[in-house]
Amino acid sequence: MSETATLEEKAANAATGNMARVVQKQRDFFNTHATKPLEFRIKQLKRLKEAMTAYEPKLIEALNKDLRKSEMEAWSTEIGVTVAEIDHYIKNLGRWMKPERKATPLFFQPGTSRLYREPFGVSLVIAPWNFPVKNLLGPVLGAMSAGNTVIMKPSEISPATSGVIKQMIDEYFAPEYMVVIEGGVPETTELLQQRFDFVFFTGGTEIGRIVYQAAAKHLTPCTLELGGKCPTIVDTDINLDITAKRIIWGKMLNAGQACVSVDHLFVNSKIKDKLIAKIKHYLKEFYGDDPFQSTDISSIISDKHFNRITNMIEGDVIHGGKSDAERRFIEPTIIDNVTPSHKVMQEEIFGPILPIITYDNLDDVISQINAGEKPLALYIFSNNKKIQDKVINETSSGGVCINEITMHMATTELPFGGVGYSGGMGSYNGWYGFDTFSHKRGVMKKAFFGDVKQKYPPYDKSKLNFIKFAAKWFLG
Ligand code: NAD
Repeated sequence: MSETATLEEKAANAATGNMARVVQKQRDFFNTHATKPLEFRIKQLKRLKEAMTAYEPKLIEALNKDLRKSEMEAWSTEIGVTVAEIDHYIKNLGRWMKPERKATPLFFQPGTSRLYREPFGVSLVIAPWNFPVKNLLGPVLGAMSAGNTVIMKPSEISPATSGVIKQMIDEYFAPEYMVVIEGGVPETTELLQQRFDFVFFTGGTEIGRIVYQAAAKHLTPCTLELGGKCPTIVDTDINLDITAKRIIWGKMLNAGQACVSVDHLFVNSKIKDKLIAKIKHYLKEFYGDDPFQSTDISSIISDKHFNRITNMIEGDVIHGGKSDAERRFIEPTIIDNVTPSHKVMQEEIFGPILPIITYDNLDDVISQINAGEKPLALYIFSNNKKIQDKVINETSSGGVCINEITMHMATTELPFGGVGYSGGMGSYNGWYGFDTFSHKRGVMKKAFFGDVKQKYPPYDKSKLNFIKFAAKWFLG
C-alpha cells in the first residue's frame, strides 16, 4: 500500500485482505477433499438441521423484528420449508451423487461413459432481505450437498435475521467450511473482488448485473435469481372462491414482498365484477374490518420501499389505499382499470397493491406479456386446457403455476429460476440445487483392446474412407 493512501483506502485494503484470507482458508480446506465424501455432506446437512431447530425461536423473533412476519409465515415459508428441504437432500443425496451411466456410441467401443457431478470449490451465496432465511439457506443447501464450501452474504436490510444466521453458522460450523459475512454494498463489493468458483445471487436485476460483471472478471460460473413483474391471468372457467382466496394469499404473502408474488391481474371482463366482489369478501374474512389491526400482514421493509409503494397508489382505487408510515404498513389495495402508463405498471410492485387490467381477447394479454421482459413466474387461472396450453406455448417465463400461486417454487421436484433480463438464469430447489452447484464432468473409459489403427498417421485415402464410414454408422 502506498504511503500516501488515505485512512479509508487503508481500511478498505485491510478489509479486502480479510476477505481474501477467508476465501483462501476455504480454498485450502476444499483442497483437502474433506467436503467430497457423502458422509461429510450428510453430516453437515444434519448439523444445519440441528442448528435450525435450536435457533427456530430466535429466527422467528428476528423475522418478526425485520418484517413483522407472523409466526405462521416465518415457519411455513422460511424455516419449515428449509428444514423439509434438508430432509429431502439427506434422503436423496446418496443416489444423486452416484456417477450417471451414459451410452457409449459404437465408434468409441469398447468403452464406458459416465457423468460425474463434482463440486466447484468455494462458493459465494448472496441473498436478499425479503425471505432472508429461505433465500439464503435454500441455495446454501445446494452448495453443501454438492460438496462446496460456502461464504454467505445475507442482506443488511434485514439485520436482525442476518445477525441470528451469523450467530447460528458461527456456532455450528467451522469458517473454513461455512461462514457468514455481514454487510452492505461496500462489503459485498469487496467480497466480489475475490475469486470464487461459483457465485449464486438472489436479488434485483440491477444488482444482478453488477454481480455478473464481477463474476465475469474471474470467469466464474454464476446463477442469478432476479425479480420482475409476475402477471396472473384469470379466465372465466374457474372456481371463483378458490381463485379469489389463492390470489389474495399469493399477493399478501410477506405483504407482496416476494419475487413470485402476484404482480398484476389480467381478468376476463365476463368474470371481473364477480371476482372483485369475492376478493373483497375474502380480504375482509382474512384480515378483518380493520386490516391495520391484523397481525397476519407483514410490514414494508424500509421507508424507501414504503414511499416507493405508496407512491404507486393512484387512479381507480376500489379497495384499501390507506397506509401508516410510522409502522411502514400498507393495507391490501386494489386498483382497477390500470393501463401500462400507470406507475404501478412501470416496475416490480413488491408490495400489497393489486392492479387489475380487464381483457376480452386472450391474444391481447399474451401480446402485452410478450412486450415486457420475461416474467419470473406466470399464473393462469383456468380449467380450460386449450387456454392453459395456449398461454404456455405462446409466452415464456421462469416458471408457470396453473390455478395456484407460488406453489411451483415450493416443491423440491421442479426447478425454480428465471429466464433472461428480469428473472435471471439458472435454477435450484432439491435436485436442481445440487445440480446447479455441481460441475458436470464427463468421464470416458476405454479398453486397451479393439484399438482403431486407422486414426493414426500416416493418413491415406483408405483410412479417411474408413473413418467416414465409421462416423456415419457408429457415431450417432
Ligand atoms: P438487492 O439486489 O438490492 O440486494 C440483494 C443483495 O445484493 C443484498 O445482499 C445486498 O447487500 C447486495 N447488494 C446490494 N447492492 C449491491 C451492490 N451495489 N453491489 C453488490 N452487492 C449489492 O435486492 P433486495 O432489495 O434485497 O431484494 C429484492 C429483489 O430481489 C426483488 O427484485 C426481488 O424480485 C428479487 N428476488 C428474487 C428472488 C428469486 O428467487 N428470483 C427471490 C427473492 C427476491
